[in-house]
Amino acid sequence: MLVVDQMRADYVEKFQGQWKGGLKRLVQEGAWFREAAYPYAATETCVGHSTISTGALPRTHGMVANTWWERDSQKVVTCTADPNVKNIGYAGATVKGGDSAWRMLIPSFAEELKFQAGGATHVVTFSLKARAAATLAGHKADGATWFDPAAGAWETSNAYPTVPFVEDYAKAHPVREDYGKTWALALPPSAYLYEEKAKGASLPPGGEAGFPHPLRGKTGGPEPDAVFYEEWEASPFADTALTKMAEAAVDSLSLGKSGGIDYLGVSYSSPDYVGHAFGPRSWEIQDVLIRLDQDLSDLFAHLDRKVGRGNYMVALSADHGVVPVPEDMQQTGVEAGRLHLPEVQQRIEKSLEPLNYPKPAVARITGSDIYFAPGVYERLKGDAPAMKAVLEAIESAPGVEGVYRAEQLADQPRANSPLQEAMALSFFAPRSGDLFVVPKAYWLLDFSAGDAPRYGTGHGTPWNYDQHVPLLLMGFGIRPGQYLGAVTPADIAPTLAALCGITLAPRDGRVLGEALANETREHSSGH
Ligand SMILES: [Zn+2]
Repeated sequence: MLVVDQMRADYVEKFQGQWKGGLKRLVQEGAWFREAAYPYAATETCVGHSTISTGALPRTHGMVANTWWERDSQKVVTCTADPNVKNIGYAGATVKGGDSAWRMLIPSFAEELKFQAGGATHVVTFSLKARAAATLAGHKADGATWFDPAAGAWETSNAYPTVPFVEDYAKAHPVREDYGKTWALALPPSAYLYEEKAKGASLPPGGEAGFPHPLRGKTGGPEPDAVFYEEWEASPFADTALTKMAEAAVDSLSLGKSGGIDYLGVSYSSPDYVGHAFGPRSWEIQDVLIRLDQDLSDLFAHLDRKVGRGNYMVALSADHGVVPVPEDMQQTGVEAGRLHLPEVQQRIEKSLEPLNYPKPAVARITGSDIYFAPGVYERLKGDAPAMKAVLEAIESAPGVEGVYRAEQLADQPRANSPLQEAMALSFFAPRSGDLFVVPKAYWLLDFSAGDAPRYGTGHGTPWNYDQHVPLLLMGFGIRPGQYLGAVTPADIAPTLAALCGITLAPRDGRVLGEALANETREHSSGH
């Protein structure tokens, strides 16, 4: 199971001429679903990975965002923050926090596989991000590994076993070996679309627009610093490291050779960091995918050698897409901009000032979710003039498409509009906000405080550029071809389940039967 963090579906259409490795092989030899899109609004990393992992939508799996406001503790929590576990650094590193998938409300496909198939199933996952590695694995696994840039170290938590081969790998190939390397163009400049220097790019400290990008940390001194580890995460070197670890897992655990069906999950995080900084119309995003294409070529060659061509199945998708950098989009003449959420908060406070509400009335805005201080929203629901004032205050902020109330999204299987339906599919009352602000198309949700110039871009909205992602299946049991029907990444897990002869409880996704070879379909339907 491969996830490319922040990969738009149209990258496959536009950039495949630059590929000749693993991505190209997926397109040519696999089943390519060209109209795959998330049906929900909260297009963020934790949400997308949980959807791919479980085959359910956020209103079912409960991972509604990367972070949310926890009403009980009156604190922001991350989707993987687990008070009952501790993170453990590999190769002797000291790390902080504790992460697991305990907040995911249903089992992952991988957990069900291990539970139902009864064989010697191994489940291992790798990513730079805990919210990707933990959700792809599930509540328990044989290994879930991610990276802590503050410590410059690979880590897991005691929700999962520590894995000897990861310890060996981390000791033998420390990330610091990439210190001082330079990310240069893989292909001649004429092979790239768009301008050499991306308009509106957000550059790392000391960074310059355009290639090459040296990885030299904050000062370029003899020792790597925290800035270096962030530069490394936003470079193709991190994708290569994840690929090498996945290959080490295949070797060390003899994946694909035991009595059971094994599950290997890799989430490539670097395209997300690169995309946030440089946007979808950059040489950087093209180059990081050219290099991922090479890494996947290596990975598939390794699997061909060790497991055998046709003895494994690959699914590749993304957790979300991305919106163009607003300053870049404005060149087209289309209205684009930044919906500044601290300003939305100020407008709400101001609207309630004359109406005798507690100050501050808003507890927190995370993503598009607005959470009020305890008791405030209950009171607003019975106070029509105050509710009207708040809604008008939000709608008056630049870049707002609309505002939804929690009670409009709860228990609304058939909503009034596509936007409202998308909002409802990622609504889960105990964790979601009281009000939801939806930006206009091409407007970016912007959380930064102060008046500093803001660059780069993001995702997290119900617009197609965030929802439309690649979905490719290849290998055992898959019928190659191009498929134009509308599907969602929630269909991946049910399809894997059908191939493996197991059953998943939630019914949000469906089996992509059109891409299953006939003999597989007969087998999976019980003949
Ligand atoms: Zn992102």
